[in-house]
Amino acid sequence: MPRVYPLERVRDFGIIAHIDAGKTTVSERILFYTGISHKIGEVHEGEAVMDWMDQERERGITITSAATTCFWMPTFTNEDDKINNKAGNTYRFNLIDTPGHIDFTVEVKRSLRVLDGAVVVFDGVAGVEPQSETNWRYADEFMVPRICFINKLDRTGASFAKSFQSILDRLTPNAVMIQLPIGLESEHKGVVDLLAKKAYHFEGERGEKIVEVEIPADMVEEVTKRRAILIEKIVEQDEAMMERYLAGETPSLAELKVALRKGVIKVEIIPVMAGSALKNKGVQFVLDAVVDYLPSPLDLPPVKAHDAETGEEVERLPDDNAPFTALAFKIATDPFVGSLTFFRIYSGTLKKGSYIYNATKGEKERVGRILRMHANDREEVDEIFAGDIGALVGMKNTTTGDTLTYEDNPVFLEKMTFPEPVISVRIEPKTKADQEKMGIALRKLSEEDPTFRVSGNAETGETIIAGMGELHLDVLVERMKREFKVEANVGRPQVSYKETIRAHAEAEGKYIKQSGGRGQYGHVKIKMDPLERGGGFEFVNEIKGASIPTEYIPAVEKGIKESLDRGILAGYKVIDTKVTLYDGSFHEVDSSEAAFKMAASMAFKAAASMAKPVILEPIMQVQVIIPDEYLGDVSGDVSSKRGRIESIDDRPMIKVINAVIPLAEMFGYATKLRSMTQGRGNYTMEFSSYEEAPTNVATTIIEGRK
Ligand code: GDP
Repeated sequence: MPRVYPLERVRDFGIIAHIDAGKTTVSERILFYTGISHKIGEVHEGEAVMDWMDQERERGITITSAATTCFWMPTFTNEDDKINNKAGNTYRFNLIDTPGHIDFTVEVKRSLRVLDGAVVVFDGVAGVEPQSETNWRYADEFMVPRICFINKLDRTGASFAKSFQSILDRLTPNAVMIQLPIGLESEHKGVVDLLAKKAYHFEGERGEKIVEVEIPADMVEEVTKRRAILIEKIVEQDEAMMERYLAGETPSLAELKVALRKGVIKVEIIPVMAGSALKNKGVQFVLDAVVDYLPSPLDLPPVKAHDAETGEEVERLPDDNAPFTALAFKIATDPFVGSLTFFRIYSGTLKKGSYIYNATKGEKERVGRILRMHANDREEVDEIFAGDIGALVGMKNTTTGDTLTYEDNPVFLEKMTFPEPVISVRIEPKTKADQEKMGIALRKLSEEDPTFRVSGNAETGETIIAGMGELHLDVLVERMKREFKVEANVGRPQVSYKETIRAHAEAEGKYIKQSGGRGQYGHVKIKMDPLERGGGFEFVNEIKGASIPTEYIPAVEKGIKESLDRGILAGYKVIDTKVTLYDGSFHEVDSSEAAFKMAASMAFKAAASMAKPVILEPIMQVQVIIPDEYLGDVSGDVSSKRGRIESIDDRPMIKVINAVIPLAEMFGYATKLRSMTQGRGNYTMEFSSYEEAPTNVATTIIEGRK
């Protein structure tokens, strides 16, 4: 079956919001209106819409999916829609879920990678909140085109103007109003479209009836002023248009929209819209704006990949006939179909029954069922095309971040890197039955989330889980208890320290037993070198000739890896280290894999003690936002936490401290900050890097492990 929706009518986008700004409500409304729109598209009858709405009301719409497909037929309100050939066309939206909380920044980044654009939702009372800033910076990093929606304008104290100003001041000077709200708080009725100079109310039980009204007389002046600002911003996008404009000619609505679209896609303009999702005002126009201004896969530069054999950079075009290239971005467990691997296709076509090649793992896997997730059902498809998002059922060896290709054309997409977990807790199942369930639960949860790790200590029988923050682990433990019904005791969170080396060292390891019975013979010589932070572990085999037969090399590498996990000073994993195997010897009869593994760990131990081992501690990037008067106290406290203040920004009435602070000093900070600022301070924190712990701190850590 050929593709139904041409690529220019596909939008892969997400909703980004601070917790509580209304992301869930906006998403629900989107699925609701797109559901109606789709039915209209199918039957072209008003009655069907009502039927569908009743059904929906009974069932309720829920979104739990990592990506939900829906369809939107833009509201036909403007003459120019005819010109742009938009009228009557349905668009396919793939709505990609972006997690909200700061502890899940890896997930936020991962979803930002696969989406082409975003709607950023703000609370119209609070305006920009600390976490909106963090997510905004991530979106900047990935150059994600954005539309802002100032929500909750029905709330007491709501201010569109102030919220807009907070976006300008704190996020971007490129923001520009494309709407004004009609009325605020309980008087909030609709919006004015600044470009079209038209006003609309939303009527009907779910705001589904969009009614054009006169622009309220008391708004005319403001509309004129804001429209002029908007048009100036738009014409800056196009030199010819700018000249005409300066000569006194106003470009047509259609021309303005085309230029605005260009600006949004280049992230040079960020349109700001108004409404109230809860009161069913404005959401349909946000969907129109997604069509009008956010990019289709065709509008973006081709994705960059690396040839799996040569490592050469290649480009992958959003074209159904190009070689199949996709990125697995989320593994989820679905109660009905089991494990789902969500993927985005950057180029080519994926067919059911074919064999994909997982370039990251170097393994082939058969494609069973391919699904598209809708609000209320799953659609099984035989083929899925470039630019689309889908889910594969029951993949066994695919994990988050893997590149999927066909074997004849393997490439890696830029690797998604996941930081090492920085915090861990011990968990202990309450009963024997819980122990088994816990094993299954933790395996499933760690498959879904690459920043969540599980490890066990075989001797003590304890299980340790590690993640990116206290809240991250809280949520996972909560899911384990609720979804998998595991009863467990949970210990106190601990910092995940690491170890590394600072100097070159060489040593040999000999494991030789030749008295009585079968002998053992393994002998290796290794060199050890520090790598840069983030370098991980590198194993280099420099054996030339026949000093060690090839079959024993993997055993040597395994012996080294196990030693790294066991640590040097205090039992923490050793990172950022290169080990080179350069010589050794073997025995025709007595050599075995076990003997070489043993020899390798002996060599490691000997070399490591000479390589100036040190303890590394996780350092967090912390942003503290406080009213002016607390600056002295709070920055003094940061310094007392071994923190380093990088900058202090001035904002109206408030100060923003940017600092790096060791994680070990951050436990209980929320409470401390609250009491220092009478509840008015706020902070966000994310992992920054591992740094060498000062000697006195390292000594305490090592003592504590004895
Ligand atoms: P999320 O945490 O961002 O997903 O936010 P939710 O959609 O769950 O909304 C948080 C709270 O704000 C809920 O109680 C919603 O009912 C409420 N809310 C969402 N949108 C609006 C709105 O437009 N107006 C008002 N007054 N409340 C809203």
